[in-house]
Amino acid sequence: MDEWTLVYDSYLAGQVKLREALCTLGNGYFATRGAAPESIADDVHYPGTYLAGGYNRLTSEVAGHEIENEDLVNLPNWLPLTFRIDGGDWFDLGQVQILDYRQSLDLHRGILERSVRFADNRKRICRIGQRRLVHMGMPHLAALSTTLVAENWSGHVEICSALDGRVVNNGVERYRGLNNRHLEPLQVKEHDAERISLKMRTTQSRQEIALAARSRLYRNEEHLESTPECRSEADYIAHHFRIDVVEGDTLRIEKTVSLYTSRDRAISECSLDALNTLHRAGPFEELLSTHSEYWSQLWRRFDIGLKEDNGEQGARHALTLRLHILHMLQTASPNTMDLDTGVPARGWHGEAYRGHIFWDELFIFPLLNLRLPEITRALLMYRYRRLEAARANADAANYRGAMYPWQSGSNGREESQRLHYNPRSGRWIPDHTHLQRHVNAAIAFNIWQYYQVTGDMEFLSFYGAEMFLEIARFWSSLAHFCKTHQRYEIHGVSGPDEFQTGYPGSDKPGLNNHSYTNIMAVWVLCRALELLALLAEERRAELCTMLDISEAEIARWDDISRRMRVIFHDDGIISQFEGYDQLEELDWEAYREKYGDIHRLDRILEAEGDTPNHYKASKQADVLMLFYLFSSEELSELFERLGYPFEYETIPKNIEYYARRTSHGSTLSRIVHSWVQLRSDRAGSWRLFQEALESDIADIQGGTTPEGIHLGAMAGTVDLLQRGYTGIVTRGDVLWLNPSLPEEMRCLSMCIRYRGHSLDLEIRQEGLKVHARASNASPIKIGVKDGVYEIKAGEDREFQL
Ligand code: BGC
Repeated sequence: MDEWTLVYDSYLAGQVKLREALCTLGNGYFATRGAAPESIADDVHYPGTYLAGGYNRLTSEVAGHEIENEDLVNLPNWLPLTFRIDGGDWFDLGQVQILDYRQSLDLHRGILERSVRFADNRKRICRIGQRRLVHMGMPHLAALSTTLVAENWSGHVEICSALDGRVVNNGVERYRGLNNRHLEPLQVKEHDAERISLKMRTTQSRQEIALAARSRLYRNEEHLESTPECRSEADYIAHHFRIDVVEGDTLRIEKTVSLYTSRDRAISECSLDALNTLHRAGPFEELLSTHSEYWSQLWRRFDIGLKEDNGEQGARHALTLRLHILHMLQTASPNTMDLDTGVPARGWHGEAYRGHIFWDELFIFPLLNLRLPEITRALLMYRYRRLEAARANADAANYRGAMYPWQSGSNGREESQRLHYNPRSGRWIPDHTHLQRHVNAAIAFNIWQYYQVTGDMEFLSFYGAEMFLEIARFWSSLAHFCKTHQRYEIHGVSGPDEFQTGYPGSDKPGLNNHSYTNIMAVWVLCRALELLALLAEERRAELCTMLDISEAEIARWDDISRRMRVIFHDDGIISQFEGYDQLEELDWEAYREKYGDIHRLDRILEAEGDTPNHYKASKQADVLMLFYLFSSEELSELFERLGYPFEYETIPKNIEYYARRTSHGSTLSRIVHSWVQLRSDRAGSWRLFQEALESDIADIQGGTTPEGIHLGAMAGTVDLLQRGYTGIVTRGDVLWLNPSLPEEMRCLSMCIRYRGHSLDLEIRQEGLKVHARASNASPIKIGVKDGVYEIKAGEDREFQL
């Protein structure tokens, strides 16, 4: 198996949308699904192009309510390229006899290829070869090269190359009842015999989108000067070329496209700049070569070397991990650094979750931190720019500080839906997921992690600290002191486990003393105190004045961090929340038997007129998140501070308890479970890792991947190797390594960035090698087992394991 190429060697109509998502090409600025250029949105295909952070709001009527949703807008389709012979039917894979078919995604170069050989109803055999790219180095450019060989016929070919703005958002079946027309036409124009352009505008956010396309034709590699016919509508424009071919001829069409929006920097007007860039764009082969060079530079930073005992299985794993890294970088890349976007849970690959930004960053940033932390910094700036909105969110809910939304889009407003659709019951149900206040802890955690890896004090003291302190203040205002228990409590939230949103029989949503939330709040408050001590005196004074942080407030943070309530049951089990122990046990076997796939137990139960709120049943890791984020030392420090006993045995006990009660209805769940079992149950952890790897490539949730990849699971699987198996922890100016390879793995190698160093790591069952590449960076400390060692640029170190 080629570890760098995802190959599909047959055409399966039922798999087309999944492959479109998996074969999406993007560059962190925009992304285009791997749809066939001749296709339009229908039951089989869904072409989609999305701009990073390209949102628009529309109001729809749902179950008698007016609701407004902010969506990632499906932009005009730049792909359309099709042909017909002698005035017959336009090319349609569904209507011809396919003789050979191959679609492949070249991960190393970021190129999507397709070759099809087919016979039409008059037995004319054609061979089509296509290659496409969305340029990683020139983020406004994309290109499609098509060859058409007339194997056994001569005739007249009509080629249509178009820009199609007649698109709507129709990629997610559950949203089909909602308004979906986000674009209005502004202008179409033919510039000359090669170039056309289209300009549209989003209806509410008033973002102008300009596309310019250049189509060049060659017959047997000879450039054809032709006079195409231009056909246009208000939101569509096409060039139709007519060419005679004789048997054996090869036609080649190069379509190059430039995409700009009115929000871009360094532009005059988006149509003008789209044309300028198109004018400067070289031929396809030249674009291909520069594009590949950008990708090879990214791979130098991001690749992971993996050797397993079972070569074939190892190759599949390596391929899948590379696919995950590719999609990570197609969503957030160096091109993102200058944009104002976050990292969406489902990539810019489809319309699921409307392109919104969630806590999934927590699973995604670690990969970026240790490879290209500048990207994390840019993504954290997305949060910083929405700090004012987070303050307003907190204020509106009568809290202080900054309360970031569970789902974030354009301006930091809460974008979670208030009603969601259960396709099983056909009902619209109140959605309380916005009560997942833990997203605030995730943001703080991400700021801290970024700082730990990079030592970027400028960021921390200028932007990071302001966000961090405001989040700490929010937690402090959310907590209240309970006289009965003589401890602080947090009420009315929900946790990562989206099955549990309220108490049985209560019509008030939210849970009390949710352990993960309470402990994360404590962690945030502890780090806020540490942060205040870390800041230069002047900066601390500035911040305290600007944010009006008094000594009394700091004292309250300290008090909460020592007296937060955490509830236990069954001898050492951290209760997911207060009252969890009162819930009924679910008969998992009975449900599995009845429904087979029960990962969306919430929908099953709702359709039965029941609710998961009645049961000890989780969609995903919740309490176990604690063991995912913190080492046992860190946790025992936190518990000790709180005055609760914490024994190491608590960890396996809790893992075992919650693992039995989790449906893994979120692809994030297996990442956490695999991670927390890594040292106690290597075989179990390895099995979960392998399942997590299959999340998207095999669409294990049965139909969610076609609507967008699961970026948290993708980045999370890579990070399981990167930090999980290496045991990397960045804490207190030391890079700690504590490798533990699964038995099946012979060698794991990678190059990570830490505090300005590029470090080559090579890990085998028996030992670890570290090489610091030559650089000017100051020496760093690495910790292995109980020892801490200094390592300078250019040095090697070896450790026995
Ligand atoms: C999960 C959340 C996640 C969201 C976006 C949901 O299914 O339960 O934890 O943030 O998907 O990926």
